Parts: sequence; structure tokens; C-alpha cells
Amino acid sequence: MSNSQPEGGRASSPDVDGDMSRAIAEAARLITGAGKLALACHVSPDGDALGSMLALHHLALANGKPSLASWPEPFVVAPHYQFLPGLDLVTKPADFPPDPEVMVTFDCGSVGRLGELGPIAERSRWVGRLVVLDHHASNECYGSVNCVDPAAAATAVVVRRLATELGWPLNREAAMCLYTGLVTDTGRFQYHNTTPAVFALAEELSTFDLPICDMSRQLFEEHRFAYLKLVAVCLERAELDVDLRFVATWVTDEDFQRFDVSIEETEGLIDLVRRAAEAEVSCVLKESPEGIRVSLRAVEETDVGAIATRFGGGGHRFAAGFTSAGTVAEVLAQIRGALATGG
Ligand code: 5GP
Ligand code: MN
Repeated sequence: MSNSQPEGGRASSPDVDGDMSRAIAEAARLITGAGKLALACHVSPDGDALGSMLALHHLALANGKPSLASWPEPFVVAPHYQFLPGLDLVTKPADFPPDPEVMVTFDCGSVGRLGELGPIAERSRWVGRLVVLDHHASNECYGSVNCVDPAAAATAVVVRRLATELGWPLNREAAMCLYTGLVTDTGRFQYHNTTPAVFALAEELSTFDLPICDMSRQLFEEHRFAYLKLVAVCLERAELDVDLRFVATWVTDEDFQRFDVSIEETEGLIDLVRRAAEAEVSCVLKESPEGIRVSLRAVEETDVGAIATRFGGGGHRFAAGFTSAGTVAEVLAQIRGALATGG
């Protein structure tokens, strides 16, 4: 990969494009033939996971195709995504059909990221009815049809392409959702995955009279005052290892309780930490009921996707994560060890 953006990535080859065209056509055929769709995105959904899933949900419903959309527990949405149209039309994972006619997953690199919906995805694959829409190079291609394009800046780009193939015209709700995926996964059109194709899609979406200013503030700017106080504590305790060019901080259970801030609310903390000019790799560790949740970012040289994969997670070359057992100190020591031995 020659670029250095947190999301997305690789230059595509003609073969990849051909494979994608075939996969998109096959996905459209499956979806067209289905009486009902069951959509799912990855656990702890981000803007691209929610945005790309809700966009297809809106388009299916607008085109007379019954559809439901869900994600695994904890079935919550970060406050900065709560403006997304369609969140009133989602289904609890407990109510997800055990044998969907056609299941579609979004932005999800592996079955494990689907939590309790994973076994349903596996059954759907067995009967040839699992469509995977994604842009992670590390995607395990666990679907019966895999529309995985690492050159796409966001899964939203893949969904836009599929909608064209389906003959489903965009509407304003879907455009808002797709724009959210595009603007979050390109870091507000700042990462190196911000290609001419990204601007072309943004231009198309903006013709739907999107509330760009309001969306930007919701997505990137506005936080409760309590969050700012938590950030102050986390930045104060941040550690910089000049030799390793590594900066890290962490959020404890006690911090979450003391400031009454949810883990979902802290998604953007890594974007503050990774500003440190001295660091090539940045890291935020968060105590959660599932273990220590780790976010990693790299500026240009280190493949943090490979490091995260080694710890049982995944992601992109410049933005990745994993969840691990142990304490913050133990997991941090393991990450330092991985960096010290060359990543
Ligand atoms: P974040 O640090 O924002 O949670 O995640 C950064 C990137 O890594 C995203 O593309 C996200 O989907 C991916 N990622 C985060 N945690 C995991 C994980 O546990 N497993 C996998 N496969 N990918 C992850
Ligand atoms: Mn994405």
C-alpha cells in the first residue's frame, strides 16, 4: 500500500475491478430475488458501518423490498451518530431472523465482528445467501458473494455501486447515510484515500440538499462537557515513548463512571492522541466488559493492521483495533513489545 490514510486503501488492479463487477452483479441478483433482506453491520458500529447499512435499508424499503437492519449487542449508537435517519427502523439482534432469505453484512471483516449474529451469517453462507459488502483488505471473504474492495474509501462507496446495479435511485435519507460513511472513513476528506472518486460521490450526495454543516458538527465537533473533562484526564496521563515514536493513553472503568461518559462517546479520542508530532503510532486502550478495547493508528510506516491481526483483531494498515484480556498495563506492554520488535 502506498498511501498513508487511516482507512481504505490499495490501488486496484484490473483483475480486482473485474472481480468486483462480477461480485456486485451477483449480489444484485441475490438481492433482487429475495423476498426480504436481513442487514447487519459490525459490533460497536462506526459511521461507515451504520451509514452504509442504513443507506441500503432505506433504498430497499423505498423500492418495495422488505428489509430489517441490526447489529450485535451492545445494541447502542454513539451520540454523534444519533441523527442518522433510519435509527427508528432498526431491529434488536435478538429479533434477527435465524434463517434469513438473504443476509447482507456491512463494513465487517470477519464473522467474529458480528457477535451473536455470526452463526446466522455462517448458516446463510452455507445456503449461498450471504452477501458481504466491505473495503477492509483484511476481510476474510466469509460470504457466498464477497463485494470487498480495498481501493474503496468506505463501504458506503461499495453500497453506492450496488444501488446502481440494483437500479435503486438514491434518496435523501440514503444520501445522508452514505455521506456519513464517506466523510467519517476519509477523516473529513483528509486521509490519502480521498480520491477523485470520493469527491465525485460527495458531489452526487450533496445534490440531495444534505445538512452538511449540522452533520459535521454532530459527527466531529459537538460533545457533552463531561466528555471534555474526561479528555483532559486522558491527555494528562498520556505517555510518549520518544524512542519507539509511540504515544498512548487509556480510559478506565472508573473514568467512565466518574464522568458519566459511555465508551461509544469516546470513539474520537484516538484522533486527538494521534496528533502528537513525535509519534508514528498512537494508541488508546479502554476498559470494557469484553476486555481491553484497543485503537491503533499509524502515520506512514507501521502496519498497525498487521499488529492488530496478531492480537486477534484487524482493520486497515493505518487504523486498526483489537480487544484483549488482561490489564491496561499488560496490553500496553504487549503492544510496546510488538513495536520494539519491528511491528
Ligand atoms: P477503531 O480504532 O476506530 O475502533 O477501529 C479502527 C479500524 O479497525 C476500523 O476499521 C475497525 O473496523 C477495525 N477494528 C477495530 N477493532 C477491531 C477488531 O477487534 N477486529 C477487527 N477485525 N477489526 C477491528
Ligand atoms: Mn469502513
